[in-house]
Amino acid sequence: MRWIFVGASTIASQYMLGAVRAQGDEVVWVVSGSADHGRIWAEAHGVARATTDLADALADASCDAVYVSSTNEKHLPQAMAAIAAGKHVLCEKPLAMTVSDAVGMVRAADEAGVTFATNHHLRCSGTHQAVRNLIAGGRIGTVLSLRIFHAVHLPPHLQGWRINDAAAGGGVIPDITVHDADVTRFLLGEDPKTVVAQMGASGMGDGVEDSAMSVWTMPSGAMVMSHESFTHPYSGSGLEVHGTEGSIFAQGVMTQEPVGDVELVTAEGRVDVEVSRHSLYEHGVAAFCAAVKGEGRPAADGVDGIKSLAVAMAVRDAAAQGAAVDVDYGGVA
Ligand code: NDP
Repeated sequence: MRWIFVGASTIASQYMLGAVRAQGDEVVWVVSGSADHGRIWAEAHGVARATTDLADALADASCDAVYVSSTNEKHLPQAMAAIAAGKHVLCEKPLAMTVSDAVGMVRAADEAGVTFATNHHLRCSGTHQAVRNLIAGGRIGTVLSLRIFHAVHLPPHLQGWRINDAAAGGGVIPDITVHDADVTRFLLGEDPKTVVAQMGASGMGDGVEDSAMSVWTMPSGAMVMSHESFTHPYSGSGLEVHGTEGSIFAQGVMTQEPVGDVELVTAEGRVDVEVSRHSLYEHGVAAFCAAVKGEGRPAADGVDGIKSLAVAMAVRDAAAQGAAVDVDYGGVA
């Protein structure tokens, strides 16, 4: 396919250009709010055309797909324009600033008959897929609880809008809690029902939270504990799933790289679980491209993006209110 990249961003240059090119696809355009930044970005990454006018790029009938990776408040208008132009859209998380906006995007894509996906990379990881298979295969019995450790240190080059600009969608909850919500749904196969939460600023957040802890109840009765932060340099990341017949320990797996280890502990003892080391982003783009061709579904579709955002918004509401909040999925089943 031929692609338009909307947003001359870090994620686009670090991972997504390579992931798209690995399919044999071409990135033809980059659209940026800054003419200088867009031109420099395009030259640095071998992209033929740069523009500040999204309509210009969307008018290129030779392009089939749009990848949106601008700051969060721009996802809605840019994705809507791409859908209206008949392009297939792979949109970064969080899909939008509100659940109802995200629902509007996904409905518009459905009505236009284009493929729409959310770039939740973690469900594309071999480690997460191995954990999911163990759970689905009954290896730990009935799931009792899931603990997610996703407190990291935000590197200096990403400490811009994420830590000080609420209007651009900053804060650790729209940034990382959305991923943990998607991981939970992917692993457990059910949607969080009610959340309690606390959030705060612990050294980076300026007008937005840089840390959050929350507990989610699941329809099955399982409990989920989720911790996100931008300010933890040495904490590492991971998740644990505990069941009636065993426990899974996945260390170093809340990451963009195909790294980390999975261990299964049961009455028979402790074993290392074999995991695939494929690129998370190449896997996600491959699934998107296949879905465009009518082969299967995206790794995370639009509904997945709506639901991860809904959980994150419930976490923020619960922390702000100091009360338990039921997740509002915006009418999406
Ligand atoms: P960046 O801060 O790198 O880029 C965001 C926007 O900032 C760019 O689109 C660009 O605006 C502008 N910008 C960046 N650098 C410059 C510069 N030097 N001069 C002028 N403008 C600049 O954000 P990220 O790449 O970290 O995140 C982008 C999106 O991707 C977010 O929605 C985020 O949530 C998501 N993301 C997803 C990840 C995943 O694994 N799924 C991982 C990381 C981020 P313009 O649009 O005008 O070009």
